[in-house]
Amino acid sequence: MEIPERVFLEAIQSAMAVVFVPFQDAPTFQKAGHPQANERIDLNCCGGFKIIYPFIPGPTISRTMASISSTRRHFLTQCCSALLAGVAINPLAAVFAQTSRSDRAITITGMEVLAVDVTERTNWIFVRLTASNGVTGLGEASLGRRSELNELNEFFRMVDGESAFDINQYRSRAWSRASSGNRVLATAFSSIEQALWDIVGKTLQVPLYQLFGGKLRDTLPVYANINRATSNRTPAGFAENARLAVADGFRALKAAPFDGFPALTASAHEIDAARQLGVDCVFAMRDAVGDDVAIKIDAHSFFDVDLSIEVARELQPVNLSWYEEPVAPSQTENTRLIHDAVTQTMAGGEFLFGVDGFAPLCQNHAVDIIMPDVKHCGGLLEALRISTIAEANGVLVSPHNPSGPVSTAASAALCAALPNFDILEFQWGEQVWRGTLVNPRELFEDGSITVSELPGIGINLDAEVLMDHRA
Ligand SMILES: [Mg+2]
Repeated sequence: MEIPERVFLEAIQSAMAVVFVPFQDAPTFQKAGHPQANERIDLNCCGGFKIIYPFIPGPTISRTMASISSTRRHFLTQCCSALLAGVAINPLAAVFAQTSRSDRAITITGMEVLAVDVTERTNWIFVRLTASNGVTGLGEASLGRRSELNELNEFFRMVDGESAFDINQYRSRAWSRASSGNRVLATAFSSIEQALWDIVGKTLQVPLYQLFGGKLRDTLPVYANINRATSNRTPAGFAENARLAVADGFRALKAAPFDGFPALTASAHEIDAARQLGVDCVFAMRDAVGDDVAIKIDAHSFFDVDLSIEVARELQPVNLSWYEEPVAPSQTENTRLIHDAVTQTMAGGEFLFGVDGFAPLCQNHAVDIIMPDVKHCGGLLEALRISTIAEANGVLVSPHNPSGPVSTAASAALCAALPNFDILEFQWGEQVWRGTLVNPRELFEDGSITVSELPGIGINLDAEVLMDHRA
C-alpha cells in the first residue's frame, strides 16, 4: 500500500518528537479547542508532535503512545530507523548522528554573572554557565538598573552538576519558584534556561533555531525602540530621534510618549495636559518620518478603558502600527473591551509569565500581538509554547526585547522558527559600543537582523569590551 506523503511526513515528525521534543504538563490542550485530554490522539494525522506537544499533559502521552496500533508502531519504528540510518529528512537526525552519548552527558559546572553599565537607566546582566565539556552558554537577566541578581544563585543550584540537556527537568525543579508571580525570580529562572539552550546548541554544533524545528526565514524585521534614548520628552525630541532611527535604516519605530502620565485621580486639567503632550509627540513623529514608517505607541498602562479608547481615537489619523498596553495586560477583559472598540492593532504582555499568563489574552482575542520576553516569560522553551497557543488563536508574536545583545540573539534564534512571528524589538540609541560587546558583532541592516548560522545563540561576549564597561 502506498503511504500518502502527508502521513509519512507527520509520522517522521512524530518520530523525531519522540526522540527529541520533551513533554511537559500543560492543561490548556482542552481549552485550545483540541480533543479531550483523555481522548486518543492520532499522531499520524494531527499535524505531528510539534503542533500539539505544548498542550498534552504527560500522562496523556503514555496513553496515546500505548494506543498506537501495532501497524502504526511498526511504521514509526521504521521511520526512526531510517532517521538513525542517516536519512536527511530532518537536520536533527544529522545532529544526533554527529553527537556522541558522552557529549550529551555533559553537566553544568559553573556560573558567572556579568553586569554591564549601559546608561543611567539601564544595566545589562548576563549569565554565563560553564559545562563539563568546556562549552559556555549565555543568558540575559537584565532588569532596569539592577547590577546583581542574588536569585540567580538559587536557580543555579538547581542545574549545578545536572545535564545541560535536561532542560525540562530544570523546569520541573524550578517552576513553582519561577512562576510565583515575582518578576525577579522569573527573570533569574529564564536566564539560566536560555544559557542551557545555548550550551546544548554549541555542544551539538547547531544554531539554536535548529532545535526548535528549523528556521522559516533568514532575516528578521526589527523595530527601533527610541523611548529610552529620547531624553527631550517634547514633540521635537521624539521627532528628532524618530528621524535618526530611520536614517539608521529602521522602517519601524516605537516610543512611549505618555511616560510620566499623572495618576488618574489627578485633576482633569493635569490629565488633559499630559494627554495632549503625548498625542502631540506622536503626531510630530509621523510628520518627521512620513507615512511609510511604522509607528508603534506603548502607553505603559497609564490609562483606564475610557481614556484608552479616547486616546486611540485621537491617534487614528497617525495610522499607528500598534497600540500597546493602554491598561495592564493582566486586565484581560478591559484589554478586550479596548481592543474591540478601537481601530488600531493591539499588542501587549511583556511581563506576563508562562503559557498560563498569556492564554487569557490569546483565547479571548484581547490583543492581536503578544509580546513574550525570553528574559521574563519562562525562557525559550516557554516562549515557544506561548507562541503555539497564540498561533492556535490567530495571534502574532513580537518578542519584547528592549535589552542587551544576548537577549536579542536568543530572541532572534526563537523568532527564526516561529510561524506566527511579527517583528522583533531593538533598543535603539543607548550606546555606540553595543554591537562590539559580542563576537561576531551585532549588526542591524535595513531594519532587520540576520539569523545566525553559528552554534547556539551564535555569539560570545567580547572580553575586552566587557571589561571596559563592567558595572
Ligand atoms: Mg511595553
